[in-house]
Amino acid sequence: MEFITESFHNKRLKEFNINIKTKYKVKDRVLERNTDNSINDDIIDGVRLEKKYYKDGFLIYKVSNFDPRIHYTYLFNSEENKEVLCPNCGKISTVKEFVNGCPYCHTYYNIDYINKELGTKEHLDNIIHSEKYNKITFIVDLIISFIIVFMYILLNGRTFNIYDVSKIIVGGLVLGFFLYYIFYVLDALILLLPIKIYKNKRNRRQIEFWNNALKNNISKKTFFNNFNYELQRYYYLDNNDVIDYDIIDYLDFDLSTKEDLFITVTVNIRIIKYINNKIVKKVENKKFTLKRDKTFVNKLNGGINIIKCHNCGASIDVNRENCEYCKTKINYLQEWYLED
Ligand SMILES: [Zn+2]
Ligand SMILES: [Zn+2]
Repeated sequence: MEFITESFHNKRLKEFNINIKTKYKVKDRVLERNTDNSINDDIIDGVRLEKKYYKDGFLIYKVSNFDPRIHYTYLFNSEENKEVLCPNCGKISTVKEFVNGCPYCHTYYNIDYINKELGTKEHLDNIIHSEKYNKITFIVDLIISFIIVFMYILLNGRTFNIYDVSKIIVGGLVLGFFLYYIFYVLDALILLLPIKIYKNKRNRRQIEFWNNALKNNISKKTFFNNFNYELQRYYYLDNNDVIDYDIIDYLDFDLSTKEDLFITVTVNIRIIKYINNKIVKKVENKKFTLKRDKTFVNKLNGGINIIKCHNCGASIDVNRENCEYCKTKINYLQEWYLED
């Protein structure tokens, strides 16, 4: 089933014969969505766990570090077998059969999820003192302590005997724990405090931004969805080798309210390209500016949409650039769009 939301991406993947299997964690279940439509579970407020890239059926790449603060929703399966009435000819069909347009009168339908979230950042930054980091500190600290105690005994002892070995072990452990405590406290001060101050500042800016956005009637969900749709146009419509992207984090938002509304968003983005039979991964910091369209009329609803050409009134497929009948350029369907 081809959804408006994914049509650009799917077209690109078809060109390369690449299928992406994505695993999601939803509450305590692991669900899956594949771009070749073999499995498409409904996802509600899910977190991405991993993505596997298959070329001609063979696994060629895997990505697994996803931010648990970025959430995804794709809801449709309950709709598939619902019966709907074609508003044009009055015939009844199931949603599934309507996907490629009304089978009777060939009216175009534009299908979208009844609910979707294409990567909403739900939570702000907080820093975690990672367990792995503590373990490494502890091991390095123990080794250093044993060396210090060993050197001390070697330099001060007249002879080296078996009692000295136990002295080294006991002394090394005592010194180790003592130093570890100092390292831990120092580390928290030297390393973590500046990060904490920086992240707090960033959090405050993001909280401020969304408070301000609310005053200007900006919906968080709409913005994130529109932004991701625009990114798909940006990456998959042009002639390049991008086969996938993931926002690793939204670093900063900026709202400008003169005349028109503009949002500038800074993201950390992972771009996956397929060049010369090889996957090429690149992580970039990028800035995008989106403008709010005051005049946008073609609001897309969840489920089935019939969209008429504003010039001749024919039903249109929004994934095409122009109306099939009169060739008029299709009007924008987003509230927010990328500034060129
Ligand atoms: Zn019809
Ligand atoms: Zn037309």
